[in-house]
Amino acid sequence: LASRDFHPADTVINIKGVEIGGEQLVVMGGPCAVETPEQIDEIARLVKAAGGQVLRGGAFKPRTGPYSFQGVGVEGLIMMAEAGKKHGLLTITEVMTPEYVDVCAEYADILQVGTRNMQNFDLLRKLGTIQTPVLLKRGFSSTYDEFLNAAEYILAGGNPNVMLCERGIRTFETYTRNTLDLSAIPVLKGLSHLPVISDPSHGTGRRELVVPMTKASVAAGADGLIIEMHTDPDNSMTGDGVQSLFPDQFAHLLADLEKLAPLL
Ligand code: PEP
Ligand code: MN
Repeated sequence: LASRDFHPADTVINIKGVEIGGEQLVVMGGPCAVETPEQIDEIARLVKAAGGQVLRGGAFKPRTGPYSFQGVGVEGLIMMAEAGKKHGLLTITEVMTPEYVDVCAEYADILQVGTRNMQNFDLLRKLGTIQTPVLLKRGFSSTYDEFLNAAEYILAGGNPNVMLCERGIRTFETYTRNTLDLSAIPVLKGLSHLPVISDPSHGTGRRELVVPMTKASVAAGADGLIIEMHTDPDNSMTGDGVQSLFPDQFAHLLADLEKLAPLL
């Protein structure tokens, strides 16, 4: 079902008037983690002012170590839903287990499956039983075929609203946190009709690389971007402050993307 042979036309996912996979470039911006109502409200205001359409933020965080901050949970879903509504943004948040799918879908417009859960088949099956759009991140050691098969689980269950997200893969290079596989964008667009989103934040792990890799992703044909932005990156509650843009960088980047659009 994910294959272009089966479905030649691009899939366009329309969420409350925002089309993902169509003509418009969609930008999802926000912190790695929802922290406080004030934090998410202020960041939502900045995302909207910069021209973004979707507010990102994790309420449940998949941390490599068990002693790291795990997210504020359902309270965070509520804070983010309020901020999104107030500022006129859609929202996206990560869901990690089948048990939390329904509550996350109640509060968020898009559900994110993280890289560590790309092959959590129980989670994928559960997401196939609802209609809420899903942003499926590529496993950091997964091939395109494994990635598309993971999407297939959701589609086969009856949820056609799936977008694919390249977020970097593990290579021998350690300077960057991951290696953003830019080739994945045209490859996936060729093999599949599903929208393709790029995540240059996790894809590089370095703030100074987010701007050029965002532009490169757009040039490679991405339908959208998911970018971390924080008002106080140095004090963010996850380690992802180092890859989070400052609000003015985020605003300049979105303005630059508008200038880039006519060239492509
Ligand atoms: C995130 O988006 O904050 C995140 C944890 O992403 P990934 O699953 O790509 O590491
Ligand atoms: Mn993050």
